[in-house]
Amino acid sequence: MDFEFSEAEKQFQREVEAFLVEHHSLDVMDANPEQLSQTVETPAKRAFMRKLAARGWLGMSWPEQYGGLDRPGIYDFILTEALSRVGAPQCGKGVGIVGKTVIRHGSDAMKSYFLPRIIRGEIEFAIGYSEPQSGSDAASMMLKAVRDEQRGGWVLNGQKTWTTSAHFADWYWVGARTDPAQKHKGITLFLIEMDHPGLSIEPTWTIGDERTNEVFFDDVFVSDDFVVGELNRGWTYICEALDLERFAMMPVGPVEMKFEALRDYVATESCDGEPLCDDPVARKKIAQLATQLEVARMLQRRVIASAIAGGVPTVESSMYKLYMTQFGQRLADAALDLMGHDGQLKPGEPDAQLDGRFERSYRYTVVDTIGGGTSEIQKNIIAQRGLGLPRSF
Ligand SMILES: Cc1cc2nc3c(=O)[nH]c(=O)nc-3n(C[C@H](O)[C@H](O)[C@H](O)COP(=O)(O)OP(=O)(O)OC[C@H]3O[C@@H](n4cnc5c(N)ncnc54)[C@H](O)[C@@H]3O)c2cc1C
Repeated sequence: MDFEFSEAEKQFQREVEAFLVEHHSLDVMDANPEQLSQTVETPAKRAFMRKLAARGWLGMSWPEQYGGLDRPGIYDFILTEALSRVGAPQCGKGVGIVGKTVIRHGSDAMKSYFLPRIIRGEIEFAIGYSEPQSGSDAASMMLKAVRDEQRGGWVLNGQKTWTTSAHFADWYWVGARTDPAQKHKGITLFLIEMDHPGLSIEPTWTIGDERTNEVFFDDVFVSDDFVVGELNRGWTYICEALDLERFAMMPVGPVEMKFEALRDYVATESCDGEPLCDDPVARKKIAQLATQLEVARMLQRRVIASAIAGGVPTVESSMYKLYMTQFGQRLADAALDLMGHDGQLKPGEPDAQLDGRFERSYRYTVVDTIGGGTSEIQKNIIAQRGLGLPRSF
């Protein structure tokens, strides 16, 4: 596997890093990033996205005719990793999932409204696939869309769960059942303004202190102008968008940063009056974690290398997601062991170690193994598609 960046790519990486030093701000960057992907929920973060846009870094891999730079996806990867290492928000759903799908399948009116606004960093999106009875098997979604011929559109009733970003996004990218007689071929994608009458949003707080949301639909009318692509083809577009997003996938930066913080802690702190760096158990543990971090990096590079070669690295992505998120858990686990009782103190409490960073991490890393597809689902994909084993059920 050859993963050496070209000179032009290295130059771009240096350019992004210099930009991030110049625009360093604790209003925009989380000094201890926990989420694998930082969201754009404040005006300061939105302003930061517009600065990225002004550099031409949003939608770099879009075709030039839609305002992109026609650059290979590796540039999106370099940008995502650099942003993640400083805890800056990332250009996710708009340029990736929504923009690329609209470019491929949207009407001319949809393209001319959404694409310029996305590439200028002006609008944020929330993604609504999951429902109370429909998570791992998202294709079983039941949000009901009933045809209203007279008004030329659809009336939506039902509920979504786990819609991250719904409380600050401008638009909702949502899947609904337009044909109850079909499963995968009965789903249509809609774009709905987040403040649309009939939509209501309730917070759900995760174990890791992150807000996600339940969204309720009460006779929400959506005109045909906001149907994405063809009727009943939504599931195909949802799957396709996942494949288009290989380069902006979960960065390894946040776990690298946490590992570095723990390594420095072991190098400088003491336990029971003895320097941790002299303790053979602590030394072995940190060496083991360093090795595992290297494995996570290599698994990520396999995904990227395969995507560069034009492949659709489904199995490689599952291996990386499974390993990286479970590595995050092992790292937090080890940190709490090495820090003793004080490691369990929360941020802001006296004696909290590294300001409680790993106490939070210990809770948050559970969430990572669920969002974006659970560990069990990743194992199923590896078993079936990678190893040729039969479906479990
Ligand atoms: C913080 C967070 C943010 C999220 N953000 C979004 C978002 O913005 N938009 C969105 O649409 N969704 C979002 N999700 C939803 C996420 O994709 C689902 O939670 C996830 O796919 C699991 O679905 P579920 O919660 O319904 O669990 P279930 O699918 O009910 O699974 C329950 C348990 O059963 C196991 N299981 C299920 N099926 C199988 C199987 N076939 N084989 C073996 N084990 C199985 C699972 O691994 C899990 O342990 C988010 C979730 C979280 C936690």
